Amino acid sequence: MGEAATARRLLTGTVSRAPHDVVILGSGPAGLTAAIYCARANLAPLVFEGEPSSTGDQPGGQLMITTDVENYPGFPDGIMGPELMAAFRAQAARFGAEFRTEKVVRVDFSEQPYRLWVRGEAGADSAARARAVIVSTGARSLMLGLPAEERLIGRGLSTCATCDGFFFRGREIAVVGGGDSAMEEALFLTKFATKVTVIHRRDQLRASKIMQDRAFASDRIEFLWNHVVTDIVGAEAVEGVQVRHTETGAERILPLAGVFIAIGHQPNTDLFQGLLGMKPNGYLVTEPGSTRTNVPGVFACGDAQDDVYRQAVTAAGSGCMAAIDAERWLEAQHDSGHG
Ligand code: NAP
Repeated sequence: MGEAATARRLLTGTVSRAPHDVVILGSGPAGLTAAIYCARANLAPLVFEGEPSSTGDQPGGQLMITTDVENYPGFPDGIMGPELMAAFRAQAARFGAEFRTEKVVRVDFSEQPYRLWVRGEAGADSAARARAVIVSTGARSLMLGLPAEERLIGRGLSTCATCDGFFFRGREIAVVGGGDSAMEEALFLTKFATKVTVIHRRDQLRASKIMQDRAFASDRIEFLWNHVVTDIVGAEAVEGVQVRHTETGAERILPLAGVFIAIGHQPNTDLFQGLLGMKPNGYLVTEPGSTRTNVPGVFACGDAQDDVYRQAVTAAGSGCMAAIDAERWLEAQHDSGHG
């Protein structure tokens, strides 16, 4: 590599320097809480906060695509998701956490210090080295698996009402799903759309009672029960959806300007396949009552390891646990002469 390239890489921070005590992957409530605690413990954490992508990744995690957060303690009037995450980030930065708006694409946990690479850096030079790693990579929206989704995402097909609702002012749209996410999306979209059809594969919602009640009370939300989406119609932009009745098999096309998919989430753990213990559904396994994974010095918190509670406040709580676990582990390594 030439001198100029080396200098550029040093400037952008892509060449390994001294190992960090703690590197944190992800910047949702779990990662940023871990960053606050690690920074206040003088561990100078480096946070790879991720980068925006067309598939819905975003620094700040899933709250960045949420509207009102009404159940995060301390905000009696609620707070917007992006505002809450900006406050988390500012608090971590205030105590010295370092941020890189990049996504880690490869890790090597085979020897200390552990190594992590970012996009475009899968060659010889590692992007960062770390004694302890906190995995808080969160989860992402599930899609229906239809070929049309790839063609029409961002062209009337969305997984984020907050991001895209504005484009559907005065139009008719649909939300697919029957959980809290679907109700939240549908309710938010009534601010813009004249009619929101919730397409659900059963005749009962999975959503909490309070969200159901709100959705049923809206005169702009209609429910299409016992239907699945079999295709999304439109060459350049969404023009409608093809739906099938789950019992009769009858198919028809609903003309629509937009479709929002809100059918749940999948953990962002592909990076750790074969390296960290996982459940069959891809969620990372941690020791009960701790954030320790099967690899010493690697800790997991937030939605990447939680398929039960999946709340911002539980993610934040487990981020705090991961920071304390990492700090104690580093101390033990130091005391035993390995640090
Ligand atoms: P969820 O609770 O798992 O609900 C997913 C919904 O999508 C279910 O109704 C499911 O149908 C349906 N679905 C799944 N796969 C489908 C497919 N291939 N085709 C058609 N429909 C499909 O997921 P979520 O709504 O994202 O919520 C996740 C967690 O976050 C929950 O604990 C929830 O309470 C929480 N959350 C809370 C709030 C809030 O309180 N404001 C907001 C968002 C999320 P079935 O019902 O038939 O399984």
